[in-house]
Amino acid sequence: MRGACQGTVPAMPLDSTVTLISAAAGAVCGALTPRIAYRLAVAWDEPRRAGCGACAAAFPPGRAGWLSVAARCPACGAATGPSPWWTVPVGAVAAGGLGASLHGWVLVAALVVSVAGVLLAAIDLAVHRLPDAITAPLALAVVMLLGIGAATGGEWAAYGSAFVGGVALLLAFGLLSVVSGGQLGLGDAKLAAVLGLVLGWFGWPMAVAGAALGVLVNGLVAIVALIMRRVGWRGSLPMGPALLVGAWLALVLTAAAPLIFNR
Ligand SMILES: [Zn+2]
Repeated sequence: MRGACQGTVPAMPLDSTVTLISAAAGAVCGALTPRIAYRLAVAWDEPRRAGCGACAAAFPPGRAGWLSVAARCPACGAATGPSPWWTVPVGAVAAGGLGASLHGWVLVAALVVSVAGVLLAAIDLAVHRLPDAITAPLALAVVMLLGIGAATGGEWAAYGSAFVGGVALLLAFGLLSVVSGGQLGLGDAKLAAVLGLVLGWFGWPMAVAGAALGVLVNGLVAIVALIMRRVGWRGSLPMGPALLVGAWLALVLTAAAPLIFNR
């Protein structure tokens, strides 16, 4: 590991407060995910959902219509969004794992990505899209948060490395999206760029490992889906969730490795 975590990664079990706070924040954001995911999970040329798709009951106007833990329509009981039975635990485990593995501003950046990642995964699973409305501000937030980390900790080398990671994964997955003829979308390439920024902070091997693990997870899911006959050979699976899991695994396993091997 390079950058902010140099020499301090094995402190994993000691930072339990940070881990718990991260996990709690991930759980709360996971609880708020279904409504936002439901409203944004539309085809690219459709307007955001303003109400229940089953009975057309409108969501409250303004912030109250977005920030709600309700995952079902109060009028008809139809599901409005993904189940909180997965968004809450996944949000908690994702953020908690990062809280145990990273520290400093790169942890803040990674937590923002993990919270947005649960939302992006929910939307990608629903409509095979990773909306720019989320990935663009997310990329900006990561650039800013890592910039604060670089400025306050003098970590300019890590910051430069983050941009190398982001651009490398953007180009790699952008190229894949062109040659795959749409199996892998440009949205996946943009998400890969965001993940490359965070992974790249720790050097290019971390960016490569995160991307490779994402492709591996995607392949394993595809094989299982084929065996279970959930998709045909021509069917396409959303890649966003696999990319997120791969990046998460690279960061968490790297932090956990000294605990496992240096006994
Ligand atoms: Zn309804």
